[in-house]
Amino acid sequence: MLHTRFTELFGVRHPIVQGGMQWVGRAELVAAVANAGALGFLTMLTQPTPEDLVKEIARTRELTDQPFGVNFTILPTITPPPYAEYRAAIIESGITIVETAGNLPTEHVEALKPVGVRIIHKCTSVRHALKAESIGVDAVSIDGFECAGHPGEDDVTGLVLIPATTERLRIPVIASGGIADARGLVAALALGAEGVNMGTRFLCTAESPIHDDVKQAIVAASERDTDLILRPLGNTTRVARNAVSREVVQRLHDGGTFDDVRDLVAGVRGRSVYETGDIDRGVWSVGQSQGLVHDIPTVAELVSRIIDEAVDIINGRLAALTRR
Ligand code: NAD
Repeated sequence: MLHTRFTELFGVRHPIVQGGMQWVGRAELVAAVANAGALGFLTMLTQPTPEDLVKEIARTRELTDQPFGVNFTILPTITPPPYAEYRAAIIESGITIVETAGNLPTEHVEALKPVGVRIIHKCTSVRHALKAESIGVDAVSIDGFECAGHPGEDDVTGLVLIPATTERLRIPVIASGGIADARGLVAALALGAEGVNMGTRFLCTAESPIHDDVKQAIVAASERDTDLILRPLGNTTRVARNAVSREVVQRLHDGGTFDDVRDLVAGVRGRSVYETGDIDRGVWSVGQSQGLVHDIPTVAELVSRIIDEAVDIINGRLAALTRR
């Protein structure tokens, strides 16, 4: 077992988080993560309406009695979601842990904290982490440039970003981006983090609700097989490299605007990748850590493997270094 300030604060057995993943953070995966003793997050915007989110929370509770949370992403969207209504659904459902991500969640923190919700804010820079701490979040998930989805615009990798954040914050810091195994967990703890957040690694588990062909594609891919799209628009997004991601990069490079790529990057198109297994049908988020993913274990196997191997690394190889 590895006990940290994060495991104490959030009441989970292991310092491992399954962060919000659009179209993937559904009841089956989140419940499996919770039952394995880690902290999983349903992805709020995966549910088309606040009412659907309430149902998905109830469905998750039928599958686990362990703690889990809801991811609340605040980033550009083609159709603006009714954030306040989703927030009300979270509160009404009695959810006590929320992962905010993207823009500073001030108004949501102001509404969620007084009703006892603990908040992990996921962001990509030290300055944003400090700001989040100042508005009262309980922990920060700091997302290095290696990550899937939105790495921000600073391009600072985790090896620098994690310690740069932990040395400045008082609240617990979760290391995110580029972590997929015990080596990453031990490294993150050494850099001052209290746990790790993983997306891509959980995407490739037995309970992950996506087509098996996508999981096989992740196993076959290397750390080099991602693209950064939407960079010229200041909304950099790391996705699996395919014909569609190449086309998006080219159109914007040639001076295109969001209107010129809207149909290519639309989330509904990415969702169909996960549903059909046709990995070239749209853009879909994946991190550089896919180069470290070599199998499709159950969530329970994955979590216990990571913890067992992390303890072995700490008590074995690392401890032995001090005895030589
Ligand atoms: P969507 O269909 O609304 O948008 C598709 C993509 O275009 C997203 O990357 C979005 O950020 C971007 N986008 C939308 N409007 C834009 C604009 N005016 N300028 C620049 N970029 C714009 O998104 P969705 O797939 O339904 O996802 C809902 C939300 O979840 C989005 O904010 C998306 O960015 C976010 N998301 C997060 C993750 C993650 O890893 N946390 C992964 C996928 C999506």
